[in-house]
Amino acid sequence: MDITILINLSYVFAATLFIFGLKLLGHPESARKGNFLSASAMLLAIVMTLLDQSIVSFQWIAIAMFAGAIVGFFAARLVAMTAMPEMVSLLNGIGGLASLFVAWATIEGGSSLTLFVLVATVLALLIGGITFSGSLIAWAKLSERISGRAVTFVGQAIFNGALVLAILVTAYMFVTQPTDPLYLYLAMGLALVMGIMLVMPIGGADMPVVISLLNSYSGLAACAAGFAINNNLLIVAGSLVGASGIILTKIMCKAMNRSLSNVLFSGFQAVVKSDMTIEGEVKPLSAEDAYYVLEAAQSVVVIPGYGMAVAQAQHAMKELQELLEENGAEVAYAIHPVAGRMPGHMNVLLAEADVSYEQLFEMDDINKRIENFDVAMVIGANDVVNPAAREMKGSPIYGMPVINADLAKNVFVLKRGMASGFAGIDNPLFFKENSRMIFGDAKETLNHMVRQFAD
Ligand code: NDP
Repeated sequence: MDITILINLSYVFAATLFIFGLKLLGHPESARKGNFLSASAMLLAIVMTLLDQSIVSFQWIAIAMFAGAIVGFFAARLVAMTAMPEMVSLLNGIGGLASLFVAWATIEGGSSLTLFVLVATVLALLIGGITFSGSLIAWAKLSERISGRAVTFVGQAIFNGALVLAILVTAYMFVTQPTDPLYLYLAMGLALVMGIMLVMPIGGADMPVVISLLNSYSGLAACAAGFAINNNLLIVAGSLVGASGIILTKIMCKAMNRSLSNVLFSGFQAVVKSDMTIEGEVKPLSAEDAYYVLEAAQSVVVIPGYGMAVAQAQHAMKELQELLEENGAEVAYAIHPVAGRMPGHMNVLLAEADVSYEQLFEMDDINKRIENFDVAMVIGANDVVNPAAREMKGSPIYGMPVINADLAKNVFVLKRGMASGFAGIDNPLFFKENSRMIFGDAKETLNHMVRQFAD
């Protein structure tokens, strides 16, 4: 068989694997398989491309793959679950940088590039540059290497407008005079500054949305690089990443009841000011007393949130779940799409504690039957169970879909004090007639309950 046909067939096969891989990533149970499938497709794509172009010798391919595998293995093993968004951010940045390098090499290596290739190359260079520097800032904010505050200054919009104009002019100049490297370096430098300017005004807590958006940009950069070097698979893979990144961004914004422009252009904390008046009183309960209610409960729904990640309470919860089940109760977990600080945060933590996927329910499924549960145990969650989203028209989160914990027969809220959650607003749930606050670190409270059960 002709080598070109073989290579094209393998590209079609790899593209199909990417699509199936993405599909499998949609469910926690099949996500590992999806990841493996997509990674294998990428390996196949790289090997076939290198063979096709006879770019480097086999020793170098083997050495690079070995070095990459070692770095990837240790990076994945060492990274803490709570630091996963930082890792994703770095990976996006490296993706952007790779597209920038591909574009740069295309320009350096090509003598008479067509207008189409030149435009695609400049796009890959610009989007890749923005993705790279933007991702580095997102990583630095998340890992608190720089302040997570939204950095704004007077005249920012004008500065950014001038920057966009300068990028467009230099890009145009380069496309019309591709032999002059000055415009190329200028465009590259300006793109890097643009990435910084885009992410600096966004508060640290909004970084997961930004990272998802940058993920989409890295796909677009790869797609443009695919056009630049005429590689169909890179175009397909880039489009898939670009599209899935933007869909995820949209899902996250919808679940937070915010528009993308609100996330990008106005620090959330800055715009939220709560003037709601909440009626009722806070009723604290000790872990001992909560135990007696749990012992009598037939059904318990656990609603985890960011505080569970902070307390690392998932293992203690799993222990309590087993004891409740031994005691004859049904235990379900209700997962809100933006509980925690990254998509799938709660799924990952619960999977780490070996909680079965069958016991995890999406918000809509659990809301349909939440009033049947004897106890709703809210573990370090706040905004995602805030009934103000349903009841208080003036609330900044009014309209946000939430888990209706307050409709369960009894509600136990495990948190350290009365602090608000990410949205910075009060929560009427804590004042409801059927709510009890169990103050303290969630892990310690759960361990306390476990000990009570064991005695
Ligand atoms: P929240 O941020 O609303 O609340 C977390 C609560 O956990 C706090 O009120 C805090 O109260 C409590 N907490 C902190 N540490 C502990 C501890 N050690 N033990 C017990 N409780 C603790 O979390 P949710 O998960 O309910 O909501 C997520 C929020 O993050 C939403 O507003 C969402 O829009 C936003 N967001 C989510 C993203 C995602 O992808 N998941 C991305 C970006 C934003 P206290 O200090 O009193 O203990």
